[in-house]
Amino acid sequence: MQDATSASPGADHCEECGVAVRQRPTCVEYEGEEIFLFHPVFCADCLLGLCRRYSVACANCGGVIPPYSMVGVLKADNGERQYVHMTTRCTSVGSAFHGYLGKGTLGRFVQVEAC
Ligand SMILES: [Zn+2]
Ligand SMILES: [Zn+2]
Repeated sequence: MQDATSASPGADHCEECGVAVRQRPTCVEYEGEEIFLFHPVFCADCLLGLCRRYSVACANCGGVIPPYSMVGVLKADNGERQYVHMTTRCTSVGSAFHGYLGKGTLGRFVQVEAC
């Protein structure tokens, strides 16, 4: 996450299609969820495409969770992970983890204190 500005001083380029992305964060709205993405760099079209491909269902409210948004992570008994929104609108059901939903896989996630 530290190398976002390492390369060219000018415009960044979409990692999917290579188009110049001058305005960041990239903002899209998908299924009522707003996504603001600083890194990696995607143009709005590609980000929307990724949302369609990689969104997961929220285990709590049943809504979609687009990639590159904060998620709560629940571990089911069978070792599968379930995801919940990390928004006040969708109050977590006591999730012990939160993380960052990436492109098809979960990125780093950290345990948070139960409260
Ligand atoms: Zn693109
Ligand atoms: Zn939810």
